[in-house]
Amino acid sequence: MKAIIEVQNLQMKFGKEEALKNVSFSIKKGEIFGFLGPSGSGKTTTIKILTAQLTQTNGQAFVFAQPAAEMSKVKNKEKFGILTDNSGLYQRLSIEENLLLYCHLYNLPESTVEEALAFVNLQKDRKKRVNQLSKGMMQRVILARTIMHKPPLLFLDEPTSALDPVNAQHIYNGLRQLNELGTTIFLTTHNMAEAELLCDRIAFLHKGEIREIDSPAALKTKYSDQSFTIELENGEQHVVHNGEQGATQVMEWMKASRVSRMYSNEPTLGDIFVQLTGSDLK
Ligand code: ADP
Ligand code: MG
Repeated sequence: MKAIIEVQNLQMKFGKEEALKNVSFSIKKGEIFGFLGPSGSGKTTTIKILTAQLTQTNGQAFVFAQPAAEMSKVKNKEKFGILTDNSGLYQRLSIEENLLLYCHLYNLPESTVEEALAFVNLQKDRKKRVNQLSKGMMQRVILARTIMHKPPLLFLDEPTSALDPVNAQHIYNGLRQLNELGTTIFLTTHNMAEAELLCDRIAFLHKGEIREIDSPAALKTKYSDQSFTIELENGEQHVVHNGEQGATQVMEWMKASRVSRMYSNEPTLGDIFVQLTGSDLK
């Protein structure tokens, strides 16, 4: 299938600082692609290049098979939506008024306001003025605006960083539904649980370099030490490694009916990141 985003040897320098070093990846239509990395690893810079807000120092970036710089052109504005913390909302207007304005700007039917409010669970708060909103509510209004014109491609830069778990879950469900309808999603986060829940593939970014790209399941298998934990009836826990010795021991416990629980010790995405980079995702 054709790539919606194609990035080859992307480099971005700010003065002497290299924010991106030789970054390459490609994203297919319909994927939810997670870009995971700690603060300062280059996530937002990548989104800015892909949406023509910055020009790379070197390398190539294509979106919808056009150079990313083309994304600032009017003909492309309906093709994608971006959520960043830079809101562009009218502070003295209500949530609803902000969404209606956007609706008119994109020539959308006014019913899309209702859908968007439901998407972010803000129907009851529609009359609140934007300058009175909490950070989490603001983030939801921006998300509502981002998805309103139903673009085939979404760039979401830490979309749930200010949300409580209930609203985050509501948003995850909505994003999954959009994805099932064909929307491709480029998501940056440092929330590993979120990445694991939503993403078909993830890339680990560290200091401007991609350290690994794959599906969460494949990464867990690759970085698993193949061990499992056995819990015995007396509460003792034993870590058993794959191999004959481990198997013999486990058989003995089983014959004596001593095993109460058994589970594999899969690494979390966070564990893998630490293993790869020696640092935490936070
Ligand atoms: P992330 O989104 O992963 O937190 P960023 O892409 O914002 O990381 O930043 C990557 C690096 O580039 C950081 O070291 C940041 O300080 C630097 N950087 C980002 N934007 C600029 C800019 N406009 N001018 C100078 N340095 C920048
Ligand atoms: Mg950022």
